[in-house]
Amino acid sequence: MPRRNELEYKALTVISNNGNDGVLQSELWRELDATSREGSRIALKLETKGLILREKELYEGRWTYRLYPKRKPASLNSIIDSPCLMCPNDARCGAWGPISPHECRMLTAWILGIDQPEMEEPGED
Ligand code: SF4
Repeated sequence: MPRRNELEYKALTVISNNGNDGVLQSELWRELDATSREGSRIALKLETKGLILREKELYEGRWTYRLYPKRKPASLNSIIDSPCLMCPNDARCGAWGPISPHECRMLTAWILGIDQPEMEEPGED
């Protein structure tokens, strides 16, 4: 069964790389050099596992499916105004250190969408 698992992995990679545009099932199988029967089985399996969405689409007069990843890569725009990007404590900040995202008021305020407190300089407490 390694071929099927390998194909599933490759299919998921191609689908994920297409992001919001999705990919037509037929294009995907061509790219993976798989048969349409093999491909349909893999698409169903990925959908059953909750990894992709299949949407029916009429393409060149034939019904097919467009496949979308359920998990989409985070866009840079979603974190562009994060306080971490300009933080003077960035180099010293870590999950288990004295400066930590767990305790950071600036990060908490940003996540909650409220006014951020003043940026703390390194060495301040
Ligand atoms: S101290 Fe806060 S704002 Fe600075 S890098 Fe850490 S989590 Fe981000």
